[in-house]
This record gives sequence, structure tokens and C-alpha cells, in this order.
Amino acid sequence: AKHAGGSTYRFYEESMSVTAEHRRLLEIDLRRALSRDEFEVHYQPQVDPKTGKVQGAEALARWRHPTRGMIPPAEFIPVAEEISLIGDIGAWILRAACVEASTWPHDITVAVNLSSVQLRDKSFPLTVLSALEASGLPASRLELEITESALMQDEALAFDTLQTLRAMGIRISMDDFGTGYSSLNYLRRFPFSKIKIDQSFIRHAPQDYECVAIIQAITTLASKLHMCVTVEGVETDEQRAFTIAEGCDQIQGYLISRPVDAASMRQFLREPSQKAA
Ligand code: C2E
Ligand code: CA
Ligand code: CA
Ligand code: CA
Repeated sequence: AKHAGGSTYRFYEESMSVTAEHRRLLEIDLRRALSRDEFEVHYQPQVDPKTGKVQGAEALARWRHPTRGMIPPAEFIPVAEEISLIGDIGAWILRAACVEASTWPHDITVAVNLSSVQLRDKSFPLTVLSALEASGLPASRLELEITESALMQDEALAFDTLQTLRAMGIRISMDDFGTGYSSLNYLRRFPFSKIKIDQSFIRHAPQDYECVAIIQAITTLASKLHMCVTVEGVETDEQRAFTIAEGCDQIQGYLISRPVDAASMRQFLREPSQKAA
């Protein structure tokens, strides 16, 4: 398109500059968002597929922008990483999630997503410790979710950080499992308690033979490695029935609930919707 000349070329240039301008404004806004208290944590329940009993919830960041409305994490987390704000934003999210979870029943865990930048920060375990202390949440009720791509950045440093967090009693989950490059090697080397099967696998199950085979193989592997399995993105009753048949420990997805704000999560914990068999 760049060499096409005429209107095509102009269109290309204009859309590029719109993107650049949009990005510049986003950066400026993002730098102010923390002090203006614009971030929120939403929660998505994680349940036992057989009984529907809530076991935990994943904390998912949201940005309530004053003029642009709710901005999803995929739009602002990567920018926050690039402009070195993810440490501060991540620490805020972690603390907010721990404070909220400390009000939940004592058998309910909270899972917080970690960026690779946080994982490479040597003081991160101290940040976690201070969030636990400030909230009174026991370390055993906190899970941290890490993707394979986050581990790839600096494996040695990530390894030390994860060992320290494990020693503190925090559980580590491998997120988006099956979408990265060297998943199996990571399972061997890092101290994971849980594997979260990426939602792309359940999307075509139980119809798609390959997806079924892959979920079965991951579930068998997890059980041999004494890890739990969470299936992400469960949207239908048929998919839930499949996870039960395959012996998956936990499901998360729109069938149970979309991510909801803290007040709605509290309500959900009082009276979960009767989606279980
Ligand atoms: P993720 O960790 O894989 O989170 C699951 C995403 O799948 C969430 O999107 C959730 O809303 C969505 N989802 C859940 N159930 C279903 C379903 O049944 N069907 C479909 N189609 N989607 C479902 P969300 O909240 O937009 O988050 C996107 C990603 O942003 C997350 O993916 C995570 O990688 C990242 N993220 C979110 N919060 C944080 C955070 O606090 N820190 C960091 N570093 N990353 C975060
Ligand atoms: Ca996650
Ligand atoms: Ca995931
Ligand atoms: Ca197929």
C-alpha cells in the first residue's frame, strides 16, 4: 500500500499518524490514571465444573477512562509495559485484589496476572509481601498467573523470583498453556501448581478431534505432574460436560460468569448462579 501512490498512499499515512497520535494521548493519560484512581479490578469466578462451587476468581484489570469509557487490558497493559508504568500499575492491582479477596470466604483464592516486567523486578517479592501484609490475606490464597512468553524474557531471573514466591507459600499458574514455544520445558523447570489451558482449545471442543486430544493429553500430564488444570473460556454446557468427563479440576468462562466488578463478585459469592448440574 505504501508505494501504491495517490489516495491509497495518503490513506496509509493518515491512518499511521492517527495511530501515533492516539498512542501519544494514551501514554499521557496512562501516566495520570494511577493518581486519578481510574483503574479497577474485575473478577471472574473459577468453579468446580461438577458442582459449580466457586473456588477462586481471576483478577482482571480495567481502566475507566474519563472520556473514552472502559478500556480493556489488551489495550493499555502493553503500553504500560513499554513506558515502564506496569510496575506501579501492577502493584496497585495486586494490592486491590488482595484487599478485596480478604473480604471473601476463607476458602476462596484470588489469581493475579503478572507481566514479564514484574517478573524480572528483583523487588517484586517484597511488593507481594507488602500487599499480603496490608490486606491480611494469607499467602495460600494468592495465585500468580504467568504466561510462557513472560518466562522467556529472562529465565534465570524469573526462576529465582518464582522460587522465592513459592517459598512464601504463593501458588504459581502457567497461563495460556499451549500457545507458546516451549511449554513442556517450562513445566519441568518452574514450580507451577496449576496449568490453565488456553481458551482456544475448548472453543472447538468437543467437536474438534485435535482439540479434544490436546485437552486430554494436558489433563493427563498435569495429573502426573501433580498440577491442577483450569480450562479457560468455557461458554457452553456441552463444553462444561466435556471438562467433567475429562476430569478437569476447574473451569472459568462466560458460561459461569463474565468478569464482574467487585460488588457483583461479592454478590456472586453469596449466591452463585445455579449453572451446575
Ligand atoms: P487472560 O489472563 O488469558 O484472561 C482471560 C481473558 O479471557 C479475559 O479477558 C476474560 O475476560 C476473557 N474470557 C474469560 N472467559 C471467557 C469466555 O468464556 N470466552 C471468551 N471469549 N473470553 C473469555 P480480559 O479481561 O480482556 O483480559 C485480557 C488479557 O489481559 C488477560 O488474558 C491478561 O493476559 C491481560 N491482563 C488482564 N489483567 C491484567 C493485569 O492485571 N496484569 C497484567 N499484566 N495483565 C493483565
Ligand atoms: Ca490470566
Ligand atoms: Ca489465560
Ligand atoms: Ca480438526
